[in-house]
Amino acid sequence: MKADVVIIGAGIVGASLARKLSLYDIRVLLIDASSDVATGSTKANTALVHAGYDAVSHTLMARFNREGHAMYKDLCHLLDVPYKQIGSLVVAFNNEDEKQLQKLLDRGKTNGIKDLHLIDRNEVLNLEPAVNSSVRSALYAPKAAITGPWELATALTENAMDNGAELSLNSPVTKIEKALKGFVVTFGHSSVTTPVIVNCAGIESDTIHAMLKKPDYTIIPRKGTYFLLDKKSGDHVKHFVFQTPSKLGKGVVCAPTVHGNLIIGPDASQNNDKYDLSVTRDSMDTVRSVALQSFPDLDFGMSITEFAGVRAHSSSGDFVIRHVTGIPGFFEAGGIKSPGLTAAPAIAEFLSDQIIQYLGAPSLKLHVKTTRKPVIRFSGLSDAEKGMLIKANPAWGHIVCRCETVTEAEIVDSIHRFCGSKTVDGVKRRVRPGSGRCQGGFCLPKVIQILARELKIPPESVEKELPGSWILKKGGSV
Ligand SMILES: Cc1cc2nc3c(=O)[nH]c(=O)nc-3n(C[C@H](O)[C@H](O)[C@H](O)COP(=O)(O)OP(=O)(O)OC[C@H]3O[C@@H](n4cnc5c(N)ncnc54)[C@H](O)[C@@H]3O)c2cc1C
Repeated sequence: MKADVVIIGAGIVGASLARKLSLYDIRVLLIDASSDVATGSTKANTALVHAGYDAVSHTLMARFNREGHAMYKDLCHLLDVPYKQIGSLVVAFNNEDEKQLQKLLDRGKTNGIKDLHLIDRNEVLNLEPAVNSSVRSALYAPKAAITGPWELATALTENAMDNGAELSLNSPVTKIEKALKGFVVTFGHSSVTTPVIVNCAGIESDTIHAMLKKPDYTIIPRKGTYFLLDKKSGDHVKHFVFQTPSKLGKGVVCAPTVHGNLIIGPDASQNNDKYDLSVTRDSMDTVRSVALQSFPDLDFGMSITEFAGVRAHSSSGDFVIRHVTGIPGFFEAGGIKSPGLTAAPAIAEFLSDQIIQYLGAPSLKLHVKTTRKPVIRFSGLSDAEKGMLIKANPAWGHIVCRCETVTEAEIVDSIHRFCGSKTVDGVKRRVRPGSGRCQGGFCLPKVIQILARELKIPPESVEKELPGSWILKKGGSV
């Protein structure tokens, strides 16, 4: 197999890059170890499109945060991905906090962020009526926004594939060898020859780098735990509300999600296990107690799930984005921790410009699509629109997930798109059955049945997420 560019890692960064490169007349192969796109850090984060005051000035994080933020709204609009500009607040409760707010404001100005200002207690209470009444002031960034991280990564990949990029899942890269003109990359049971590799492997970016050269950075995994509260609690918090940052990160936030839930977290705990996504009592207690300082009336009894994500913190302290010195054709975007979700579109633009130049400026394709086939979200339609759809296809009238009002037709559509869902969690990420209050208690058997029928596999072969994660026993039935 041959390709012009091989991208390793289909998180938000690899997917953004695949979409940019798919505009050119070259063969792009996006490879991921997992059974779906967006199952690394892109799957479990706070989903904030950061305004840009937090990143240390003059770092790559600050630059790509600012540039990425400026691209987000249009990108989400083009790809039909949720995006809401709700604004963020960093709240201060004492003198020390207020000194930090001033520092963040100054840093924001240095980073070139406009529309940032300090607001007093009354203004904070006006914006956030349920915030702890002992609040003294806040830093307000009205341009901060929320999005759907895995929805965006899926949409980017879908659009890239519509323009000819190829995707290989369940394909862990295990070896990279230098060849006469480039590299031979071994993944799964295949290999590909390519002049260009881009390392977008998240927490494994140091491992991929080490396949060619001793890395000058290591990835230090930092786990963050979250609570997701039921939609009934959704408007208890109106903005993305931070407390002042600590050495380990931006701190616990309370914020609405684009789907109307409340997300609370993350803490930051460091261990050496890149794959430890366990939710511990200690972490839950930490998140709960910190969040209650901001919003004393938060009802954690409304939690519908708890989960953890792992940040790819680089020992260099910054993103590692470059054409690696001494290895022509080896590009990387490693150590992309927060604000990596925000920065991804700008990182992709920067790297794609370099790669296109390196490949001798191939021409743009004559016909490309910048949008994707619209996603019909049944729950948001009027009764008349719903009626018309059901008349054309009764599967639109078959509600599979009652918590989120997801129809059979939406699930079927999600399976048959480019980069379609192949697993129960894949369907959940794309169209949300199982994301509501019952967490799949009622709809799981139906989702398995639909996946089995559409993929033409036995129900017992349907996987939750990873290869081998079957839900039914052989000989069982739904
Ligand atoms: C707790 C937490 C909160 C965050 N909050 C925010 C936020 O609010 N706003 C924000 O801007 N950013 C946030 N971030 C950061 C953001 O989520 C990440 O920067 C971003 O998702 C990184 O994307 P990525 O594509 O680099 O990595 P990933 O999404 O991790 O993707 C890397 C991919 O590489 C694949 N891979 C690994 N090894 C191999 C291999 N050998 N072969 C093939 N494939 C491989 C993996 O399967 C994975 O899919 C947060 C992160 C965390 C963990």
